[in-house]
Amino acid sequence: MINADRLDGAVERLLAGDRVALAQAMTLVESTFPAHQGLASDLLDRIMPHTGRAKRVGITGVPGAGKSTFLEALGGYLLTCDMKVAVIAIDPSSPLSGGSILGDKTRMLMLSRAQNAFIRPVPTGGYLGGTSRRTRELMLLCEAAGYDVVIVETVGVGQSEVDIAHLVDCFLSLQLAGAGDELQGIKKGIMEMADIIVINKDDGDNHPQVMMTRQMYQAALHIMRRKYPAWSPPVLTCSALQQQGIDDIWRCIEDFYRQMALDNQLDALRKRQYLESMHKQIEENTLQALFARGDIQDRYQQALQQVENHCLSPRAAVNSVVNYICEKISD
Ligand code: GDP
Repeated sequence: MINADRLDGAVERLLAGDRVALAQAMTLVESTFPAHQGLASDLLDRIMPHTGRAKRVGITGVPGAGKSTFLEALGGYLLTCDMKVAVIAIDPSSPLSGGSILGDKTRMLMLSRAQNAFIRPVPTGGYLGGTSRRTRELMLLCEAAGYDVVIVETVGVGQSEVDIAHLVDCFLSLQLAGAGDELQGIKKGIMEMADIIVINKDDGDNHPQVMMTRQMYQAALHIMRRKYPAWSPPVLTCSALQQQGIDDIWRCIEDFYRQMALDNQLDALRKRQYLESMHKQIEENTLQALFARGDIQDRYQQALQQVENHCLSPRAAVNSVVNYICEKISD
């Protein structure tokens, strides 16, 4: 484990691309142990000037869409282009079983063995709140360690998708043809967030259905509000299993970056994301600090109880807690 005396050495090794140093740094920033918080902050401060050069790509899709197969194919392609690839796999494991959807070792076997690839599962344990901050920090560590592409992967369910859209530059949504998935995608508003839509499993008998689905997406995109005036999200197809269409997808990601480089749009996007995340974190930490106070916690519990017993309306309960907090902090 990194400690204060060894911080210099750890930073040096991390910047030189040492994988063990990277893994140790990740363990430190993920630690919830109070004594580690200051050191983690110092470490992040030190590596910050060495971040920002990587392409930050988000990939989501429902379970079975082919994310791990696709990541193997895309990662493998990038390795052949002499790039270093990091994958941060957000794993919304069940808080009950503690089980893991993404962490299982059979996923991404080739990448997990490649010298120039690094895979890190991030278990969320059912609490998505702090995951964004942790994921951002892990992403920055990978950048400082010299990874050219950092891919954040998550299962396409609800909030986790929205969260990673706020962390990455280019958001790629992996879709399946048929089975009503295309409608789900449209309904869930994924398309408003996606910069690139990829329909996977374009092979064998699936081909006609994939083409139909592609047309549906293209038609739907015509009537959608655009995220960027100059970028119309393309709908591409691939077969991750047969490693076909992967190079076109990477070229499309590069086109996206070329477009975002115009008028410094990428810088503006990243700045916006930092400010939003800081704002959210200040709110979260302030709330945590307030509710850690016994008297505020008591007042809150009391208000909950009163609502439960129908002694107080929810509106009056909210006012009573907020007024109490305001009174106390103005002391
Ligand atoms: P994930 O749950 O999104 O990570 O999906 P996986 O990568 O584990 O893939 C789910 C299943 O779909 C596996 O049986 C894969 O072999 C299969 N699969 C993935 N990509 C393709 C593809 O391009 N074509 C076909 N036919 N099957 C695929």
